[in-house]
Amino acid sequence: MIDTHAHLTEKPLYNNLAKVLNRAQENGVEKIICVGMNKRANERAVRLTNNYPQIYGSVGIHPNEVSKEELDLKRLKEQLNQPKVVAIGEIGIDLYRNKETFLQQKAYFIAQIKLALELDLPIIVHSRSSASEIYEIVKEFKGLKGVMHCYSEEEQLVEKFVELGFYFGVGGIVTFKNAHEVKRIAQKIPLNRLLIETDAPYLAPMPYRGKPNEPSYVKYTLLELAKIRNLKPEKLIEITNENTYRLFSKMDAKKLNL
Ligand SMILES: [Zn+2]
Repeated sequence: MIDTHAHLTEKPLYNNLAKVLNRAQENGVEKIICVGMNKRANERAVRLTNNYPQIYGSVGIHPNEVSKEELDLKRLKEQLNQPKVVAIGEIGIDLYRNKETFLQQKAYFIAQIKLALELDLPIIVHSRSSASEIYEIVKEFKGLKGVMHCYSEEEQLVEKFVELGFYFGVGGIVTFKNAHEVKRIAQKIPLNRLLIETDAPYLAPMPYRGKPNEPSYVKYTLLELAKIRNLKPEKLIEITNENTYRLFSKMDAKKLNL
């Protein structure tokens, strides 16, 4: 399995990294994408990609960070040129937590989309109470690829994002009993656009709901998703791995000589 979205740069993961990575390996997680969000996390994520063969990274400025963080495109570009930094993210718009910075969020989002197109890299999108605003923006950029991470928003927009070529990251929420809409969305996403993720240390799946999340728990999401899609877990692992390598094409092991 590949955990396509984990914040290994954050407590409590960063402080217990050796144990966290051990448990991930013991539970069949062979690779992890460590997702950045601000200057500190981005620098750490890049460092982790150099220190651990199984860790890949992304860098970007998260929508909830725009009022505190400058957008240093030059530095981002340097980081994105590192061999194991495979995407820009997470980026996007959050109108749930930060309505008042909408215009600044939008400017950061668009500038980072342009950088993704310039470098031919996918984007990892954070969307909260903002799916239609995000759709209106991304549809204007031809050739843009990316993933709607932990998508739990308007169900009717799933097809629209699929038409644009986007992928969907399914996280721990899908294991919650009352998450009917997220389960319906998980049913609806075409198989060739499905990714699995934890968003660790946040949003732990059942049976760890409410506790700190970690990459090894991605198996609970995979098992639930296999049930929903009526597939054998091994088959779903194969499908989601393949999708991961297709979207994050820089992860190709052959190209990296691993
Ligand atoms: Zn995240």
